[in-house]
Amino acid sequence: MTVDDVPARDESLRRRTIAVISHPDAGKSTLTEAMLLHARAISEAGAVHGKRGRASTVSDWMEIERRRGISISSAAIQFPFGDTVINLVDTPGHSDFSEDTYRVLSAVDAAIMLIDAAKGLEPQTMRLFEVCRLRGIPIITMINKWDRPGRTALSLLDEIRDRTELLPTPLTWPVGEAGYFRGLLDVSTQRMQRFARTSGGATVADWDDIDAEEALASEGELWQTAVDEVELLQADGYEHDTDTFLAGISTPVYFGAAVHNIGVHHALEAVSALAPPALPRETSDGAQRAIDAPFSAYVFKVQTGLDSAHRDRIAFMRVCSGRFERGMTVTHERTGRPFATKYAHQLFGRDRETVDEAWPGDVVGLVNATMLRPGDTLYDAEPVQFPEMPRFIPEHFRVVRSADMSKHKQFRKGLASLDEEGVVQLMRSERRGDGEPIAGAVGPLQFEVFAARMEAEFSAPIRLDALPYETVCDIDADDAEVLGRERECEVVTRSDGRMLMLVSNSYRLRVVQRLHPDRRITILGGADAA
Ligand code: GDP
Repeated sequence: MTVDDVPARDESLRRRTIAVISHPDAGKSTLTEAMLLHARAISEAGAVHGKRGRASTVSDWMEIERRRGISISSAAIQFPFGDTVINLVDTPGHSDFSEDTYRVLSAVDAAIMLIDAAKGLEPQTMRLFEVCRLRGIPIITMINKWDRPGRTALSLLDEIRDRTELLPTPLTWPVGEAGYFRGLLDVSTQRMQRFARTSGGATVADWDDIDAEEALASEGELWQTAVDEVELLQADGYEHDTDTFLAGISTPVYFGAAVHNIGVHHALEAVSALAPPALPRETSDGAQRAIDAPFSAYVFKVQTGLDSAHRDRIAFMRVCSGRFERGMTVTHERTGRPFATKYAHQLFGRDRETVDEAWPGDVVGLVNATMLRPGDTLYDAEPVQFPEMPRFIPEHFRVVRSADMSKHKQFRKGLASLDEEGVVQLMRSERRGDGEPIAGAVGPLQFEVFAARMEAEFSAPIRLDALPYETVCDIDADDAEVLGRERECEVVTRSDGRMLMLVSNSYRLRVVQRLHPDRRITILGGADAA
C-alpha cells in the first residue's frame, strides 16, 4: 500500500461516469447544456456549441464537426455536482449506429436514456439501449419535451416496460399532461415543484417547492390525478429499488423539459445519488483490477482531425485504477513499450485544458499518441490487460476506390485512421487486393461520413460502390480459397485479422452450404440474418 491508495478509493467513489443516449432530436445537446448550466459548469447558454435549428442529416453532422460542436469534439466533460464529480461522455450525434458509439459506451458506468415525450422509444434509442443491456450498464430514463402536447405518462411507461423489458419506476411524475405542464410531483417527498416558465433555456427555471396541501390548493384535480396515478403504480410494484436498477432490471424514470430547464436538477441528482461510482474493472484473465491498484487505463476512442490547424490525433482513455499524473511514464501493454503522458488534456467544448491528475472513472485525452489504438491498455507498475472491445458484424458493404490517383499516400493514411477510429471496418479481399479495400458498416450513413471525412481531413476523395452482400459468415482459413471461388461469395480479411465470408443472401448461402457439406460455414449476421 502506498499513500495514494486511499485517495484512489475515495475519488473513485465520487465519480459518476455517464452518457446520454437518445435518438437524434430528443434533446441531448439541450439537456447537456442545461445540466452544465445547472451545475454552474458554464455560465451562459450557447457556451456548448449546440445544434439548434439544424435538420439531422449527414451534412449537418459534418458541419457540426467543423464547428467543433459538443457532440463531436468534447469526448467527455467533467463537472462537480454536490459531492460527486460527473464525467459526461458524449456519444456520436448522428442517427446511424457505429462502432464508435459502442466503444464510447464501454467507458461509462451508467446512461441516461432520453426520450421525446411525443415520440416514445425511437429506433436509435432502442439500439443504444440494447448495447447498454449487453454491457450491463444501468439506465436512468428521462422523458423530455413535456412542455409540448404528447403522449400520456402512463402510456410511455407501458412502452418502456413492453419494449425494453425494464421495469420503469417513476421518481417524479408530471402534474398536468404533456402540453399543459404545471410541475412535478417528487415521488419520495410527495412535494411539488411548481414551475414558472422561462424562455429559451437561457436561465435556470424558476420553481417553488411546495407541500402536498399547497399543491392540492393550487392545482386541484391535476395534483390529485398525479398522486392517484403514482399510488396505483406503486401498488403494482413500479417502485424504485437500487439493486434491480444496478442489475439492469428496472429504470428510474424522470420527466422534464430540458429546453426550459425543467427536471434537469432531478436528472443531475439522479446521476449523483443513483448511478454507480467507478468500480473495479474486469481484466482479460477474468480477474478484477482493484481501484487502488497502481494506475491503469484503457483507450476507448481515437479521433483525428479535432483541430484542423494541427491535424491532431487524440486517444481518449478511461482511468480504471490508481492515480494518473500528467507526465508519468506508463507501459503500453500491447507493445510493452514505455509511453510518456506529457500531453494529457481534458476537453471542454472547444477548449482544451491540461489535466494534472485523474482518478478512476475519469476520461483523459492524450494528444498525438500515435501508438495508441482503441482497446489498448496502459498501466503503471503492475501489468494488466483489459479485454478487447468486441467488434460488430457489418451489414452493409462498399468497395472503396481512390477518386484521385495522385493522392495515393493520403488515401492510405485516411483509410488507416478512419478504420482505427471505427468509422467503418476495412477489409481486404484476395480478389481485389490492397488498392480496393472493402468497407463495412452497421448503418449505411457511416459511408457518407467516411467519404466526407476522407475528403475533408485527408484530401483524399473516394468513390464508394455498393456490394450486394447481405449475409456474413465465419469460415476456416483453410477453406478460404475453395469457398472464395463460389459465385456471389467473397472472402475478406478484416484489419484485425478476422476472416469473413460475404454472401449475396441467405438463399445463395444455403446452396453454397449444400455444395460444400464438409466445410464449416457459420452464419454470423448481416442484413438478412435470422
Ligand atoms: P439532440 O439531437 O438530441 O442533441 O437534440 P437537440 O438538443 O438539438 O434538440 C432538438 C430540438 O428539440 C431543438 O430544437 C431543441 O430546442 C428542442 N428541444 C429540446 N428539449 C426540448 C424541450 O424540453 N421542449 C421542447 N419543446 N423542445 C425541446
